[in-house]
Amino acid sequence: MTSTLAKTLTHWVAGRPAEGTSGRTSEVTDPATGEVTAHLPLASDAEAAAAVAAAKAAFPAWRDTSLSRRTQILFRFRELLNARAGELAELITAEHGKVLSDAAGEVARGQEVVEFACGMPHLLKGSATENASTGVDVHSVRQPLGVVGIISPFNFPAMVPMWFFPVAIAAGNTVVLKPSEKVPSAALWLAELWREAGLPDGVFTVLHGDKVAVDHLLTSPDVKSISFVGSTPVARYVYETGTAHGKRVQALGGAKNHMVVLPDADLDLAADQAVNAGFGSAGERCMAISALVAVGDIADTLVEKIAERARALRTGDGRRSCDMGPLVTKAARDRVSGYVDAGEREGATVVVDGRTASFDADGSGFFLGPTLLDHVGTGMSVYTDEIFGPVLSVVRVDSYEAAVDLVNANPYGNGTAIFTNDGGAARRFQNEVEVGMIGVNVPVPVPMAYYSFGGWKSSLFGDTHAHGTEGVHFFTRGKVVTTRWLDPSHAGVDLGFPTNG
Ligand code: NAD
Repeated sequence: MTSTLAKTLTHWVAGRPAEGTSGRTSEVTDPATGEVTAHLPLASDAEAAAAVAAAKAAFPAWRDTSLSRRTQILFRFRELLNARAGELAELITAEHGKVLSDAAGEVARGQEVVEFACGMPHLLKGSATENASTGVDVHSVRQPLGVVGIISPFNFPAMVPMWFFPVAIAAGNTVVLKPSEKVPSAALWLAELWREAGLPDGVFTVLHGDKVAVDHLLTSPDVKSISFVGSTPVARYVYETGTAHGKRVQALGGAKNHMVVLPDADLDLAADQAVNAGFGSAGERCMAISALVAVGDIADTLVEKIAERARALRTGDGRRSCDMGPLVTKAARDRVSGYVDAGEREGATVVVDGRTASFDADGSGFFLGPTLLDHVGTGMSVYTDEIFGPVLSVVRVDSYEAAVDLVNANPYGNGTAIFTNDGGAARRFQNEVEVGMIGVNVPVPVPMAYYSFGGWKSSLFGDTHAHGTEGVHFFTRGKVVTTRWLDPSHAGVDLGFPTNG
């Protein structure tokens, strides 16, 4: 059903709204009510080219704007975001469905990257060597790339773009952001906030669209880098196409995160955290725990404790102080409940059944309650596939070694956690496990902004993780300058290779 208040959204080009002209649109829904709340223009190739051209035109002046002036704008953006974070959280809940407190948490984690980027003058300092050769000095600088493309997924409408654009902009680049077409409004809100903060027109562009817009960004010679976050098949495509067109690409993909619980762990702590990490944001987090690996004879007790907590969760409209909201679309809800059907058919025990849960919401939202599956086998589709929904699968193993083998055999390597009171076992785990982000008694180990975020294996294509010093490195290029002044002994012509003396 379409709301009578449904809006028509625009792109954001050269510092102002730009109406869509392609004639192609998609619908944006409120997942808690099922209502269509907006119509979104999907860019044509020509519209994408115009957006990139505006960003390219803005680059020379922004690159040459002093670091202190750039940083002042970053600080103003931070202050405005602090003051108005609640508005952004409401927009996120209205299009993604996650509960308001979770949306506010997402904004806060994005804000941490803004704060990190406020330190850009320090982060961009190069190095210098005096008298490297007699009378010769050497120094290094890092310079911005130009127009950089960011392509983001539906599950973090604000935080994921903010992993990249504060760093890219502070370093002197101009940004074209292609948000997920399911959750487009946060990006437009952020564009207006940048304008209010005093960012020059064209430095931050929002281009809405689908594969047409993405393909333009991947192939345009005017786009110098791509930061992508989304599912693994698209991440692989983006990496291969972008690099084939001469760009540097960081493409973060899907995940299947395991939480290993050793027999000596505090089982109440483990149960609390398994519920938080399995069902927070309805499991639509790339760092959600999807598989709980119970080691030894604790499984029965642990499953009982998790079930008790999962049954107590309230699922409903994210604006009603519920614990868990809906899935993002009807298709996503149907796909996830289809996985639960398949798991049951293949022999898993459905301990808590979200398909029969009741929900605190009006209308026909896309709800599925928390679901706990036990006795999950590694050949079942609930285990092999990324489900991206509120389904926690318990896999039982006999030993620590079997648990690590399971994690390492998985094609994904985004996040993992171990719950134990044995420091030696935890140390061994962090050393042996083939995953990018590890939690020890921490179920969702998302690194702080001053570290870098990224997985291994099919969870990341490219060499560079997001934000932190790796982010600064990604959005800048190195230059080394070798200088000689005041050399009275003009050496004359010498075709030999320069040597040091
Ligand atoms: P998605 O891959 O469907 O879409 C991501 C982006 O790519 C969107 O902007 C979309 O418009 C675009 N896109 C989709 N299909 C495309 C195609 N065929 N060609 C070109 N562009 C295309 O992902 P999603 O469903 O929006 O997000 C969920 C996925 O993102 C999950 O797999 C999740 O694990 C992953 N994710 C990963 C991380 C991480 O840090 N590794 C973080 C968040 C989400």
